[in-house]
Amino acid sequence: MLEKLLLEKFKFSEFRGVQKPVIDRLLLGHSVLSLMPTGTGKSLCYQMMAFLQKENEIVLVISPLIALMQDQTQKAQDIGLRATFINSSISAEEKQKRLKNLSENKYQILFVTPERFKKTDFVDVIKTLKISLFVVDEAHCASLWGHDFRPDYARLNEFVQLCGKPRVLALTATATPPVQKEICQILNLNFETDLILGGIERPELCLAVTDIYGESEKFEAMAKVISENQNVSGIVYFTLIQTLDKFTQFIARKNLQFTTYNGDLPSHVRRRNQKEFITGKINWILATPAFGLGVDKPDIRFVLHSEIPSTIESYFQEVGRAGRDGKSAKAILFYDQDDVSIQMQFLDWAYPEAEFIRKVYLLIEKNFAQVSVEGFDYLREQMVFKNRKDFRVNAAVSILNRWGCLEEIDSKFGFKALQPPEDNFFVKENQSELKKEHQKKLLEILRWSQNTDICRIKVIYNYFGHAVTDDCGKCDVCL
Ligand code: ADP
Ligand code: MG
Repeated sequence: MLEKLLLEKFKFSEFRGVQKPVIDRLLLGHSVLSLMPTGTGKSLCYQMMAFLQKENEIVLVISPLIALMQDQTQKAQDIGLRATFINSSISAEEKQKRLKNLSENKYQILFVTPERFKKTDFVDVIKTLKISLFVVDEAHCASLWGHDFRPDYARLNEFVQLCGKPRVLALTATATPPVQKEICQILNLNFETDLILGGIERPELCLAVTDIYGESEKFEAMAKVISENQNVSGIVYFTLIQTLDKFTQFIARKNLQFTTYNGDLPSHVRRRNQKEFITGKINWILATPAFGLGVDKPDIRFVLHSEIPSTIESYFQEVGRAGRDGKSAKAILFYDQDDVSIQMQFLDWAYPEAEFIRKVYLLIEKNFAQVSVEGFDYLREQMVFKNRKDFRVNAAVSILNRWGCLEEIDSKFGFKALQPPEDNFFVKENQSELKKEHQKKLLEILRWSQNTDICRIKVIYNYFGHAVTDDCGKCDVCL
């Protein structure tokens, strides 16, 4: 029966990974927290449930990113589901229309951000619906110790109650055992019985760490890989935009084909560059870690890291974008001891003080016109005296954004002020505490990069709570 639906609606002949056990457990009426690697088909689990629910029921999907919602909705529609989303990107009239349709049971699946539950018009309609499944996509956003903490995710259980306590399906790609436990606590799930771990094995990945001394040696080494592999696709990740810029100038002289992606580029340029990369028009992209969420390109053969990432989580997420088609892919981390101090500095800036965050918000609110035109340059000029290296402003903007204090719009800056940060956000998300925790993780990846005894991928699997006995046989340690 499930297999028939799979073939009919999704055109797939078999389930992947733990899709089937997840759906089976949901069908028994239980909740599930499932870990499945990025790109392996988490969406299918709730899409399938939308086909299986009763006529008057609806699947509600909580998704953290407005930018991904359109795409998720489109994908659901493509397989024949009546799907829609409600967020700040749509007009007031359109929102009214969708709310009305919702109350008339016209949709089978709805995507919203958790912040939507702050709006009474939305909650009023939600309360009248029969929600068959409450989905939490990117569930690690509920964890304070994950990277993408969103205060409203911490209130998810309240929203589940509001929805009439339906089954919950929480989904994420990367969560260490402590984070898994925290998610279970927040959503009132049972860590012992509700957890379904999908394997995170990525046998196609060949991991390597190359020791480098100094920037010019590093630039030459990276340029060599790019130049020797112009006919296949690759990403080069940079911790700092200014290193990315410097490297861009460095290889511009070498007549190589590449595009770039970073938070300083206007959003339409970012979108265009991303598209050129995804469609294969340009094979290489130089990017900051901001690039990649929701990027589903199967044939990426290389992921290079210009600096050591600050956690094993982000490293694995980034290298995991390669080799989605199951064919061999190579990840090379260029390790320069001096970069460790960059990461330490980075952590100082990544967790700005409350006062700083409030000031940035006020600037965005009070000087909307100027901020829209001049973007981050203006904020930096006001806040950190034009020091381009000091990215506390960027950190503050991204914190404000995930707190729901900003709204994404189409301008050079990309945001406008929505509501000032609440006092309790600063208590719940104590930046100096987070920084300490993050420093421990940095130590963890440092150890990993310096390790010369144990298979690299094995260490990573173990870090995520997966017991693996076999060596990969293809990382630089194994070889
Ligand atoms: P993620 O886990 O990152 O959310 P998605 O749900 O976006 O991944 O799915 C990634 C890709 O995997 C999609 O192109 C989807 O069609 C494909 N996919 C999902 N399930 C299967 C399956 N059982 N067989 C083959 N392809 C699948
Ligand atoms: Mg997904």
